[in-house]
Amino acid sequence: MAHDAPQATGPSKLVIRNIGLLLSGALEKPILDADTIVAVNGKISAIGRLKDVDIEGATTVVNANGTTVAPGLIDSHVHPVAGDWTPRQNQISWIDSYLHGGVTTMISAGEVHMPGRPRDVVGLKAMAIFAQRAFWNLRPGGVKMHAGAPVIECEMVEDDFKELAAAGVKLLGEVGLGGVKDGPTARKMVGWARKYGIQSTIHTGGPSIPGSGLIGADVVLEADTDVVGHINGGHTALPDDEIRCICEGCKRGLELVHNGNERSALFTLRTAREMGDLHRVILGTDAPAGSGVQPLGILRMVSLLSSLGELPAEIAFCLATGNTARMRELDCGIIEVGRSADFVIMDMAQHSPGKNILHSVQLGDLPGIGMTIIDGIVRTQRSRNTPPAGRVPEIVSGH
Ligand SMILES: [Zn+2]
Repeated sequence: MAHDAPQATGPSKLVIRNIGLLLSGALEKPILDADTIVAVNGKISAIGRLKDVDIEGATTVVNANGTTVAPGLIDSHVHPVAGDWTPRQNQISWIDSYLHGGVTTMISAGEVHMPGRPRDVVGLKAMAIFAQRAFWNLRPGGVKMHAGAPVIECEMVEDDFKELAAAGVKLLGEVGLGGVKDGPTARKMVGWARKYGIQSTIHTGGPSIPGSGLIGADVVLEADTDVVGHINGGHTALPDDEIRCICEGCKRGLELVHNGNERSALFTLRTAREMGDLHRVILGTDAPAGSGVQPLGILRMVSLLSSLGELPAEIAFCLATGNTARMRELDCGIIEVGRSADFVIMDMAQHSPGKNILHSVQLGDLPGIGMTIIDGIVRTQRSRNTPPAGRVPEIVSGH
């Protein structure tokens, strides 16, 4: 178990050289012209050609061997409970398994699978603060889990949101998973949350598991959460006309999840694209859930949207990195000086008919992951979960 993730113990300097393809994570320029990245103390300090950057005093040197480097993937929608255990499927090390699928950051949409989850106001606040603290203190495998996302109940008052924010809570769990299921109450509370800097999301579509309910376009638009959580349902999606109505009726984030309706995800993608709003589309797995956990779920969404949605693969990767980082105000997700040195290094899977990694993803294949790096520290080498790639990066000096 990788519960004691290695932390930086002093000044560190990471050099990744011999990069064959560098994906930026940013829609406006998804491919960068560079073969080397330097990161000092966990932050990107230089991006360029080897001859032009300062690699003096590197503590770790990675030879990418001509493979592809992208920002670590971000899962915008997970349901953690405690540490690296989920009671929903009674599974341990699911977060570590996601790391092997290239995910370096996760956002909780509510710790709703906690057995005996309290629904009284004092109890739900205590649980959110506990989850925020616990995942701040413990990062399974090094994965940055942003947790502590209370599910709102009708008895809450403005002071509750003020108190939560003061205690470090920055997220709301999915509106609609608790007692608040009507537009006016949701809108009032989402407004209080926003006032105190707490980001919000909503459960869109039919009930996912017994206990959750139907949230239609009218409630989604009235609630006006920052993110329209799983707009493709979890799994039961809204009719296409309601999805279109949400896309056109607001400017909020449009979240597509693996544990949702794939056809509706493709419909949403097409709609957002027609509107010129691709920057609003972000990806999640919505796991653990009834259909399990999907360590490769974000990669599979990238491949699904690229192949069936006919989206260039380098653009599809932006939906799982830079788009989410900007919407969630994270310092990772884009290859840019000053941002967190969180990377996934990958190559075309062995025996894929693609001409190169991007083409293979556009054909619907998954890439093979050879390494993950978080805060400038190598966390995993060849993935135990992805298909093996033709080429793998290697650590040539350091540890
Ligand atoms: Zn949901």
